[in-house]
Amino acid sequence: MLSIEGLTGIVVLQGSPGYEEARQNYNGRFNKFPFVIVYCEVTQDVINAILWVRKYRLPFRIRDGGHSYEAFSLIDGGLVIDVSRLLMLQINHENGTVQIGAGFRLLPLYEALWNQRVTIPGGTCPTVGISGLTLAGGYGLLSRRLGMTCDNLLEVEMVTARGKIIRANHSQHSDLLWACSGGGDGSFGVITSFTFRVHPIENVARYRITWDFADLEKVVRFWQMWAPHADDRLTSLLLLPAQNQGDLRSSGVYIGSEEELRWFLGPLQEGTRPKTVAFHSTTWMETVHLFAGQPVKQERFKNSSAYAYEPLSDEALGVLIHNLKTAPGSANVVSFDAYGGFIGSVPTTATAFVHRKALFVMQYQSYWEQAAEADENIRWIEQFRKSMLPYTRGAYRNYCDSMIPDWTSAYFGENLARLKKVKQVYDPENLFHFQQSIPIY
Ligand SMILES: Cc1cc2nc3c(=O)[nH]c(=O)nc-3n(C[C@H](O)[C@H](O)[C@H](O)COP(=O)(O)OP(=O)(O)OC[C@H]3O[C@@H](n4cnc5c(N)ncnc54)[C@H](O)[C@@H]3O)c2cc1C
Repeated sequence: MLSIEGLTGIVVLQGSPGYEEARQNYNGRFNKFPFVIVYCEVTQDVINAILWVRKYRLPFRIRDGGHSYEAFSLIDGGLVIDVSRLLMLQINHENGTVQIGAGFRLLPLYEALWNQRVTIPGGTCPTVGISGLTLAGGYGLLSRRLGMTCDNLLEVEMVTARGKIIRANHSQHSDLLWACSGGGDGSFGVITSFTFRVHPIENVARYRITWDFADLEKVVRFWQMWAPHADDRLTSLLLLPAQNQGDLRSSGVYIGSEEELRWFLGPLQEGTRPKTVAFHSTTWMETVHLFAGQPVKQERFKNSSAYAYEPLSDEALGVLIHNLKTAPGSANVVSFDAYGGFIGSVPTTATAFVHRKALFVMQYQSYWEQAAEADENIRWIEQFRKSMLPYTRGAYRNYCDSMIPDWTSAYFGENLARLKKVKQVYDPENLFHFQQSIPIY
């Protein structure tokens, strides 16, 4: 039996009270049994955990919000270094920044920032962790105006493979800051705090439009020529459920008045003749709550992704529709998130997040209730992804998929070589490794 001496923080050993809860991640498809989970309460707990795994040579993972699609933050028989209790928050109004502990989930973070009428662009799910989100990019409802979450990252504090604390910013360890801006999830060290640029925010306008499945071709044809090129204050999403699984819908947020938003939406409405159209003008925080929906603890799912750098051709649309007509379950969708705006204005090599010039990212999604339904759903996602390969490029690291064979180039493209160099400097022993960690060579 291994000794847990040396581990500090809240230590939850296999078989002890609280273990069942502690070993759960968001994706209920996985059922993993770590040997021990450590909830770190201060940076020293992280250091002690790293020194402990070095001593006992036990495999480990780092976890914040636990939303990794492939449960890369869990491990059978090893240690989980959980940072979700690192919750310090310090806003500096003078220079417009916030320093936060690496443990925040999105909703509490947005709420704390909203109290000061500022925000950062982040994802829509309330329980996603700021760590995983930022370190692999981070897309949300303000991204076309304010960038990916990682575009607002100014500094990280990291515990290294040797148990040392370093700070990476634009003046020191700038290569590490670069890597942590899109390629830093789990590969270089344990991030314990982030410093972001914050943005003032008050009221926004939002919209929701629906169509019948029969209008799919027309809607996609129009949306893809419009949403990535719209005014950058407008971020638009498109959701396409499989046939007989509900209406097609687009929703989005505009940083400005409802009147202006109605004007910007005019072409989309005229071009596609929607079934329903609704506009609302509200506070930013109300919109965050609305998009967050009801809290969900866990669901079983398999998702994958691909980028459209060109509008989908008629042939590509035919393939997409065929997939949506042959879905296996009752919760099968593909979503489109519009890029362009600020995202596309950043050079592809300026951060590790490479997919700057894409028009939008597509996410193939499948959810199910019973474990026995897993195989057909996973098969459908894999078939969907493969069938769209001729029309797409790459994949989004935050929508990680362990079935993508060439995942390094799919996620990181031309930035892969530099990521490997950063890995050689900061983790030459490859202590931080898992199925899709940045390889050393
Ligand atoms: C329901 C849902 C909604 C989502 N919505 C969005 C969205 O709107 N926009 C978007 O961009 N993405 C979205 N995502 C994807 C999400 O960004 C990724 O799943 C992300 O990795 C989750 O981060 P986490 O901290 O919750 O997950 P975890 O599973 O805790 O971590 C994810 C990865 O990051 C590593 N990691 C975690 N913390 C640290 C740390 N402190 N230091 C170093 N490595 C660390 C882990 O080891 C793991 O490899 C969504 C995911 C889900 C499940």
